[in-house]
Amino acid sequence: MRVNKPELGAKQCLIWDQEHETMPRPELEELQLERLQKTVERCYTKVPLYKEKMDALGVKPQDINSLKDLGKLPFTTKNDLRDNYPFKMFAEPLDRIIRMHASSGTTGKPIVVGYTVNDINSWSELMARVYTAAGVTQADIVHNAYGYGLFTGGLGFHYGAERVGAAVVPVSGGLSKRQVMLWQDFGATVLMSTPSYALVLAEQAKEMGVDSMRDLKLRVGFFGAEPWTLEMKREIEEKLNLEAFDIYGLTEMMGPGVSSECPYHDGLHISEDHFLVETVDPDTGESLPLGSLGEMVLTSLTKEAFPVLRYRTRDRTFIDTGICSCGRTTARMKRITGRTDDMLIIRGVNVFPSQIESVILTLKGLEPQYVIVVDRGASYMDDLEVLVECTEKFHAQGDEALEKMQELLGAELHHVLGINARIKVVAPKTLQRSEGKAKRVVDLRELNH
Ligand code: ADP
Ligand code: ZN
Repeated sequence: MRVNKPELGAKQCLIWDQEHETMPRPELEELQLERLQKTVERCYTKVPLYKEKMDALGVKPQDINSLKDLGKLPFTTKNDLRDNYPFKMFAEPLDRIIRMHASSGTTGKPIVVGYTVNDINSWSELMARVYTAAGVTQADIVHNAYGYGLFTGGLGFHYGAERVGAAVVPVSGGLSKRQVMLWQDFGATVLMSTPSYALVLAEQAKEMGVDSMRDLKLRVGFFGAEPWTLEMKREIEEKLNLEAFDIYGLTEMMGPGVSSECPYHDGLHISEDHFLVETVDPDTGESLPLGSLGEMVLTSLTKEAFPVLRYRTRDRTFIDTGICSCGRTTARMKRITGRTDDMLIIRGVNVFPSQIESVILTLKGLEPQYVIVVDRGASYMDDLEVLVECTEKFHAQGDEALEKMQELLGAELHHVLGINARIKVVAPKTLQRSEGKAKRVVDLRELNH
């Protein structure tokens, strides 16, 4: 196994692929350029949409002579991928494809992605980096509660766990009682799930009288696939007695493993030898200097079956290129604060669901279970309602306490957002739970008017 242990500070920092994860930047950029040129050539010659887009901009593969030329290339949007359903974006014939996945596609057709043998191999390698960064080795038992199926989560985490030699338990989502039983009986040390499902499992464990300190061996958890705040992270760590790592990815670029945290938890290291990162203004598409908050744009550098040029992720973050104490030289993206298309505009004010989550989780007595409902009121004004569960203990205090809590949360939200919201503190376990990605926002404005 190519695991090294650099002598660095107090934290144990294992690195799976020392060569690529700690490559000096000039060398890394050289490698990126070489791979970018190959990717552009592949896109231009094998994917009709890219030829069309590049011809329209008057740019040819040979025009890419430095990383700065990236800006000459066209963007790719979710709609481009959707319009080419199912296989028109594939750069390899079907007989070279060994796997397909698809995004959830809640509206209309999903986006279908394909993988060659080499693509699956790179993905497994990148996931092995993720596990190793958190100190997971062949000695671990990995409980994988991400959904298996067309969703990339299940198999993405699965192959990475096998690559580091850990014993993987492929449970998938659902049947929460059984999941807790397996934690106990198999002695799982590592948990993979969405942050919202981790909380459902924590709740289930408590209901079964299972104490995470006394009865479980969970040590590390990898959570992602949906936005989650630092407050939510603390909540999960406390309830499950583990160290939570943030992991990011998206179907269009591969699946989970585009970036993830190291033990310093100061941003998610991007595997820059496989993905080129930029930040743009979400409204104008103009390039922003790295380090500014904006929409992240990604270009794949090694993918064979589904190469992607300048993909507009819609995810808001900023990039830190400073050297991390773990020894990796790769840039780090900061925790995603929301998707540009998750942003709610309520009475002209920009509101991110994560802002509401942060406030809720600072109030003792409330649970991290909430729903945000936006509608248009009688006077055609936007109406924001937040439903949130309280703890059993708090609920037992009666109506007066509930009303006070509603007032308090309303005031705190007004302070942060600058607008009024109607608050309903509801009894424990009354809001719907999810086994995968949580649905926190219900926007009825389009629907009802
Ligand atoms: P789907 O389109 O089916 O929802 P994906 O799993 O590909 O499928 O979703 C990818 C999106 O999930 C990302 O673009 C991002 O918005 C969100 N996401 C993934 N990981 C994280 C994370 N760690 N933090 C915040 N958001 C995340
Ligand atoms: Zn680091």
